[in-house]
Amino acid sequence: MKLLDNIKNIPDKISVDTLKERAVAIKNAIPKPTARKEKKEEKKEEIPSDSLKCPSCEKIIEKKALGKLKICPECGKLFRMNAKDRIKIIADKDSFKEMDINMEADNPLNFPDYSAKIKGLQEKTGLKDAVKTGICTIGGYKCLIGVMDSGFMMGSMGSVVGEKLTRLFEYGTEHKLPVVIFTCSGGARMQEGIVSLMQMAKVSAAVAKHSEAGQLYVTVLTDPTTGGVTASFAMLGDIILAEPKTLIGFAGRRVIEQTIKQKLPDEFQTSEFLLEHGFVDAIVEREKLQDTLATILKLHNCKKEVEE
Ligand SMILES: [Zn+2]
Repeated sequence: MKLLDNIKNIPDKISVDTLKERAVAIKNAIPKPTARKEKKEEKKEEIPSDSLKCPSCEKIIEKKALGKLKICPECGKLFRMNAKDRIKIIADKDSFKEMDINMEADNPLNFPDYSAKIKGLQEKTGLKDAVKTGICTIGGYKCLIGVMDSGFMMGSMGSVVGEKLTRLFEYGTEHKLPVVIFTCSGGARMQEGIVSLMQMAKVSAAVAKHSEAGQLYVTVLTDPTTGGVTASFAMLGDIILAEPKTLIGFAGRRVIEQTIKQKLPDEFQTSEFLLEHGFVDAIVEREKLQDTLATILKLHNCKKEVEE
């Protein structure tokens, strides 16, 4: 109210000094956020560095108690997995051979600070970009695998993600190999603009050629799978699996609610909701994913590594 009054009471003709006074009054009327900030910092200090607070049950848990599957021992919440850890639990031991390891993003739009941001994240994560691709065996069956990593710019799809996945499908078409993709993405990478959006069509075209060659493609949707990734290769799998309680959608919930002026159901954009509505074929617990994938590969006459 005080702020509004200050603006309302400005007369038609005023001196510079009065304007300055008004400006100071308006500035003083804006509440300062310092008190709130201090409170937040205080809370953070309570958690030791080797532990974290589970966002679901809010209990403090030792990081190593999550185990290699990254599951909360108290409530069973699935924590997000990075690409390296994911490959460890899915691919047979020592079978993964990475492809296109050193492919790096250019800055096609000269977007401010983009190159520096990429460099910083490369040092922090040990990744060159937001996807790892390669060849491996799952339960002894040879296949190509691509795993997106939300730790690298929220798994956004820029030119590198698009190119690496396209090459993976092209390799699969040429060598008659199935492809398994773990999706996890905030969508297109805005710093690459149209170049980023183009990847949707490019990967989709490579998926189509792989399919025309009679090869199997399985997607596993993990938390979160959104935006341009959902709108392209995530939904193109011959078989679409998802982890429980995964966020899967195109636009964000708030954007949709504001557009259609309706409240959406609580479970909207979860893997369970999508299973019910036919977008997802099955929800698979994390500990059963490797076995499930091996069974799918077996049922589709995929090759065992030893038979070659
Ligand atoms: Zn928990």
